[in-house]
Amino acid sequence: MKKITVIGVGYVGLVTGTCLAEMGNEVIGVDIDRKRIDDLNHGVIPIYEQGLEELVKGNIKNGRLTFTTDVSGAVRESEIVFIAVGTPPMFDGSVNLEYVRSAAKSVGENMNGYKVIVNKSTVPIGTGDVVSRIIEEKYNGEFDVVSNPEFLREGTAVSDFMNPDRVVIGTSSTKAEKIMCDLYSNFGTENMVVTDVKTAEMIKYASNSFLATEISFINSIANLCEKLGADVEKVSQGMMLDKRIGQKAFLHAGVGYGGSCFPKDVKGLIQIAQENNVRFGILEEVENTNNAQKQSLLGKIQKLVGQDLRGKNIVLWGLAFKPHTDDVREAPALVVIKQLLDRGVNIRVFDPIAQKQAEKILGESVFYESNLEDSVKNSDCLVILTEWPEFKVVDLDKVKKKMNEANVVDGRNIFDPNEMKKKGFKYISVGR
Ligand code: NAD
Repeated sequence: MKKITVIGVGYVGLVTGTCLAEMGNEVIGVDIDRKRIDDLNHGVIPIYEQGLEELVKGNIKNGRLTFTTDVSGAVRESEIVFIAVGTPPMFDGSVNLEYVRSAAKSVGENMNGYKVIVNKSTVPIGTGDVVSRIIEEKYNGEFDVVSNPEFLREGTAVSDFMNPDRVVIGTSSTKAEKIMCDLYSNFGTENMVVTDVKTAEMIKYASNSFLATEISFINSIANLCEKLGADVEKVSQGMMLDKRIGQKAFLHAGVGYGGSCFPKDVKGLIQIAQENNVRFGILEEVENTNNAQKQSLLGKIQKLVGQDLRGKNIVLWGLAFKPHTDDVREAPALVVIKQLLDRGVNIRVFDPIAQKQAEKILGESVFYESNLEDSVKNSDCLVILTEWPEFKVVDLDKVKKKMNEANVVDGRNIFDPNEMKKKGFKYISVGR
């Protein structure tokens, strides 16, 4: 059992802190967002994540998990301090380290003995040294800064944290290595990668950028399939049966990647390469391809509904950047909505979980529906932007009857084109 502070209780910090408490540690979650801390102390969970609410409540109840805005008390009491604050992109794509610096400063000011400071945030290569220097300015005793990037996926964050594919620990200190290996001893040693700080930082960027590359690759193949009359779903299936590519490859064509990580981390690595005069053109093209892909549904909608969309009623299913999360950061839905609003479309939206988050960005510019089937009433086109499981099993005959025109643009390939044709829909998907 270790005493741990987690600075920043967003998606990563809250899941990390809660899971570490569940594993038997004593965890204090710290955030500068007072409302977030008040809510958590009243059992109100600020994000939607399967299984998280029960774990937070259970560990608050058994006394292993507490939340506070008092960073000094928390740091002083802990032997391990995780930094899990946001690292958003700046206007030029470089990483904004303001929150990491500020967290490191709070740690430095409250050091009262040896501690391991763990960078859980995704940070540019070399940030471990930045954090060390900030702490050294305030404290001249012994401490270690470790890189321990997080690979959880929103939507399955708790189970990803508890059953990780790998645990990466970056440190050159044997003392810190032992403490971190003990902390994660439940997960076994087979999938533990122990390395230096910079390599650990690079593993995170390389992983996310590689996955994003797969997505842009298959989307380019999809665009070619559309021109040539091939079926990208079968192409993916054929590719993924190659064991070197694998069944879990990110080869599902669609409307492009979004979320708080891939866009930001691809931009970040491009910037890091440029700063170091290393040519990394592949990654620049991954980003260009993705931006184009997010915009590509407009042409498909116009193909079905007509060039002039003014006054048309269009319904969007899915706002979250992927299913099982309420996160709409960089979601393709936001790009499509902007394109449609610019063309004078009346937009109605339905998402089982993400409407509240989306409303913070979209306000009253769209109408929020509360029922999936009814949302399509009198609409000229249905556009699918997130592959929520409930969309796949909807009664399509009922949907068709309610629509003004039976037009469907499927940005996630959730329906079978032949089936849709049989049912009398005009249907366009991606790469089929
Ligand atoms: P988030 O925006 O959801 O949460 C960040 C939290 O940090 C916020 O609650 C904010 O108030 C708090 N904060 C900021 N500065 C602070 C300070 N000085 N002291 C205390 N609290 C402070 O961010 P997130 O999605 O959890 O991402 C955090 C980091 O983890 C990022 O670097 C991200 O790239 C990385 N990451 C995210 C995911 C993901 O799926 N979201 C997965 C892996 C890694």
